[in-house]
Amino acid sequence: MMIPYGRQDISEDDINSVIDVLSSDFLTQGPQVPQFEKAISQYCGVNYAVAVNSATSALHIACLALHVGTEDIVWTSPITFAATSNAALYCGAKVDFVDIDPLTFNISVGQLNRKLERTPKNLLPKVVIAVHIAGQSCEMEEIHKLGQEYGFKIIEDASHAIGARHCGSPVGSCKFSDITVFSFHPVKIITTAEGGVATTNDKALFTRMELLRSHGITRNEAFLKNPSHGPWYYEQIDLGFNYRMTELQAALGTSQLKRLDEFTNIRNKIAQRYNSELKTVELPKVSENNYSSFHLYIIQVRNPGDHLAIFNELRDKGIGVNLHYIPVYKHPYYERLGFRDDYCPQAEAYYRSAISLPIYSRLRDTDQQKIISAVNSIKV
Ligand SMILES: *Cc1c(COP(=O)(O)O)cnc(C)c1O
Repeated sequence: MMIPYGRQDISEDDINSVIDVLSSDFLTQGPQVPQFEKAISQYCGVNYAVAVNSATSALHIACLALHVGTEDIVWTSPITFAATSNAALYCGAKVDFVDIDPLTFNISVGQLNRKLERTPKNLLPKVVIAVHIAGQSCEMEEIHKLGQEYGFKIIEDASHAIGARHCGSPVGSCKFSDITVFSFHPVKIITTAEGGVATTNDKALFTRMELLRSHGITRNEAFLKNPSHGPWYYEQIDLGFNYRMTELQAALGTSQLKRLDEFTNIRNKIAQRYNSELKTVELPKVSENNYSSFHLYIIQVRNPGDHLAIFNELRDKGIGVNLHYIPVYKHPYYERLGFRDDYCPQAEAYYRSAISLPIYSRLRDTDQQKIISAVNSIKV
């Protein structure tokens, strides 16, 4: 059996919370989703949370709420899952990529600054999506300053980073951003099977995302354009989607959230063990102002020429290593949009050396030992 790079941790309580919903009155559009949203916003110390059926959907409605359209351009990091930049493309916008910081693998604030300086005013980004790779926050205060200076809005793609902290605040508090997005896919820190949340402190953004999640339809009298025809009356006032989260998913999410701190604690302990016992490879670095949720533990091989061989060797030994991520612009779809294969040199160098080792709350001690021995037996 291959040790996977990540997997869910489901308890009896989690199972029972879902079973209870199955015999309740509502399978969708009941009390569980608002409860989950409230629990998330309390955890993050943020005013509003909108639960949806995936982080991809959350990114899409986040872009739409910020009025990203066909005249606009969105910048993000190339080292992310394609869903991050796809969200901007769904809105008809253009995307561009800013190279990464080789130490954190997050968007480089220096590169962002230089690119902003070089860009003509009419081609500046409307939104920058900061992706917190592996569970370590980007330098949000710096990015926020640049946002003030150049007039762009900020979405945090925190799909990896629920439970993480930055400068003492929980990721998701939106202290230095407009909207933060979380994913609850089973490989992430907590799961709802499929699901996502967008958090914000801005009431208008919250209202727009809530509307877009459910067809752009409202029954709220304050938003109706015409006089009500009767008690059945509702209006579609925008073009929205069915991006709703089910009651089953929300109940699972609320139950999982109770163990979030336990999960990140275990992930940090495993990371510390890897840090102290792994030899022969470069280890991930967490900056002083960050507490990482360690969704991923990314090592780098010292000689890129050995990358494929080492990756294969670890897989052969039953270790389900992975690579997060192929720089997004290298995908054929993005090549067709005009991106060169070697567009971001630091992202390319990262891609030639990175390997994600297994890390998750139920990773057994003996499996950790097996992983450490396999990495340490790499011939360099
Ligand atoms: C997982 C992930 C997504 C997409 O999340 P879904 O919930 O599967 O839609 C987006 N961005 C990043 C960085 C991710 O890791």
